[in-house]
Amino acid sequence: MITIDGSEGEGGGQVLRYAAALSLLTGEPFTITNIRGGRAKPGLMRQHVTALEAAAAIGSAECSGLAVGSGELTFRPGTVVPGEYHFAIGTAGSTALVVQTVLVPLMLADAPSRIVIEGGTHASSAPPFEFLGATLLPVLERMGPRLSVSLERHGFYPRGGGRIVLDIVPAPLAPIACTERGAFKAGKVEVLIAGIPFDIAERELKAARKVLREWLEDAFAPVQLSADRGPGNALLITAECEHVTEVMSGFGQLGVPAERLATTAAKRMAGYLASGAFAGPYMQDQLLLPFAFAGAGEFTTVKLSEHTRTAAALIARFTGRTFAFGEGADGLWTVSLG
Ligand code: AMP
Repeated sequence: MITIDGSEGEGGGQVLRYAAALSLLTGEPFTITNIRGGRAKPGLMRQHVTALEAAAAIGSAECSGLAVGSGELTFRPGTVVPGEYHFAIGTAGSTALVVQTVLVPLMLADAPSRIVIEGGTHASSAPPFEFLGATLLPVLERMGPRLSVSLERHGFYPRGGGRIVLDIVPAPLAPIACTERGAFKAGKVEVLIAGIPFDIAERELKAARKVLREWLEDAFAPVQLSADRGPGNALLITAECEHVTEVMSGFGQLGVPAERLATTAAKRMAGYLASGAFAGPYMQDQLLLPFAFAGAGEFTTVKLSEHTRTAAALIARFTGRTFAFGEGADGLWTVSLG
């Protein structure tokens, strides 16, 4: 039994999701206390409960202490059973973060799975659908499994109601080296807008253009969604390179000016492009789990995040495998295993 203090390191939901995935992958039970102890409102939120319910469902696990607000739980894994599953978060909690919990165990199962998840698809502090589909899954596919995800309905904060479908055809994970991103091929900036004034999209596109000056004018486009999906607004900046596609995002929020949100996301993209790194600031921590179960591998990235350090420490506790982090003179980091 592994005991985890959920307030250590990054101290958020990722500790919990990764612990559940690692438990399914290693067969090691765990108890976690001080769940999300590093957050302003600690304890389990609805989306974390669903993520753990999903892990328990696919992994025939017993989980006690699983309720909204709970600060402590115990998880005892069983056998991972691939197949068809449906998980509904019931809020705008992130569908992609439920994926983060079950993906690697199902990538290593002995038959395909289809997972339908309902909840948020474009909300803050989580990967938007496009990051999952264009950034993360194509890299993981290079390790062997076949992965595809489709968006059936958008879900924004606070309403939720989005729906994604994920298909997984498992395969043993082969180590990969992701050190070169290759030549820049195309950039695209989209603003999703649903049930709120259209000029918000125009202001965001204008602000993003000020930062990404070299990108072609027709790369900037609003995408008007049906008003009944809203209210909602997301900015998605995509850079397609030869070996990787990176998606940076920003999400409309009451009280945050459209220009500020767009400038922040665009600067993040400009920084990533200038760095020469393969993985951006969010792909980093999300690559660690699959890399750990491939047994070796290497990627370059921008400045290490606290999420990455926390995930690496957790992986070491469950598996004994340790990642090495090296910082180059140019600020480029290399993350390697084995
Ligand atoms: P936590 O904050 O502990 O719930 O973890 C959030 C997870 O979502 C981490 O794996 C982050 O890398 C990921 N994440 C947060 N924001 C984004 C974003 N804008 N794009 C992609 N991934 C994100």
